[in-house]
Formats: sequence, C-alpha cells, structure tokens
Amino acid sequence: EIKHEIMDEVSIRRALTRIAHEILERNKGVDDCTFIGIRTRGIYLARRIAERIQEIEGVTVPVAELDVTRYRDDLNEGKRSVQEIVQMPIDVHNKIAILCDDVLYTGRTVRAAMDALIDHGRPRMIQLAVLVDRGHRELPIRADYVGKNVPSSKQEQIVVQLKEKDGIDQVVIKQR
Ligand code: 5GP
Ligand code: MG
Repeated sequence: EIKHEIMDEVSIRRALTRIAHEILERNKGVDDCTFIGIRTRGIYLARRIAERIQEIEGVTVPVAELDVTRYRDDLNEGKRSVQEIVQMPIDVHNKIAILCDDVLYTGRTVRAAMDALIDHGRPRMIQLAVLVDRGHRELPIRADYVGKNVPSSKQEQIVVQLKEKDGIDQVVIKQR
C-alpha cells in the first residue's frame, strides 16, 4: 500500500487561513454569510474557517451542519422522497451560504447540498469551499475556495484526518 502525505498540520492551517482571507475579500466582509458544513469533516473545516475569520475581523459567522448522505442522486435510483429531505438547520433565506467540505470529487454531494439549500432556505448566493479538489467531476460544479488541488486517479483515495475527529491534521493520498 503506497501512501503520500500531501498536507500536514501547518499546510492545512495555512490553507484555511488563506481561504478565510479569500472569503472576506470576495464578499467584502462576511455580512450575511453563513457556513454550511457538510457532514462530518466539512463541519470541522467550517468551524475552523469561522474561527479564523473571528480572529481576523472580530465577526462571528454562523455555522450550520448539513447531512446530505441520502440526497445523493445516484442512490435509490434517483428517487427522493419527502422524508429524505433534511431539515435546514438554520435560516439561510437571502444569505450568502458558503458550503464547506473536505473533498470535492464528482460534485454529486455538493449538488445535493445545493438542492437542499435552494428547496428549503433560498439563499441569495451559494459558494463552495473545499480542503481538497481531487478532480473527476461528473457535474458542472467547481469550488470558489480550494485548499489544495490534488490530481488523482480514480483508484486513489484521499485520506483526510482532522484533529477534532482523528487526533491529527493530515491529508494523505493512498493507492487503493
Ligand atoms: P462527490 O460527491 O463529489 O463524489 O464526493 C464528495 C464527498 O464524498 C465529500 O463529502 C467527501 O467527504 C467524500 N469523498 C469523495 N471522495 C473522497 C476521497 O477521496 N477522500 C475523502 N476523504 N472523501 C471523499
Ligand atoms: Mg464527506
């Protein structure tokens, strides 16, 4: 099994600090911005970026959690029932909703998250921040803020470990 470290604690911290600055610059501050962390690790990333913005600007950005596991359009033969729709955790009406996730791959998770936001929250704008973009999109989706672009083969796997869950900050690319 071949493994390569592509980000360590320091490079993850720097990438998130850069993304915090990019978000502030792009939106001329964070008025009306809300972070939406996508299930497990996207939530920790959203919280960290919000902490960084708090340090830089002294402003608190709300962080909400979204679990889109059952939204994926390649599950259940594309059928989605009302019960499968997750309640929007906070009011994003007319807000700039910034989705945060650890890895962007086919784009299907993000598409599902956008569906949820548009159906139930109606934000005025949606942006996307990811720690790693590994390519292989199957939908016309791109990230506004990227920690690191990591060209990968489909056989490879990106292992993202974050202190809050894994006790260590590290991104590794692994041959399956
Ligand atoms: P997509 O829906 O774009 O195909 O995949 C993105 C979602 O699946 C993200 O929520 C991400 O956590 C997970 N994912 C997809 N590929 C990888 C990968 O190589 N490594 C990790 N850690 N997560 C992945
Ligand atoms: Mg995920």
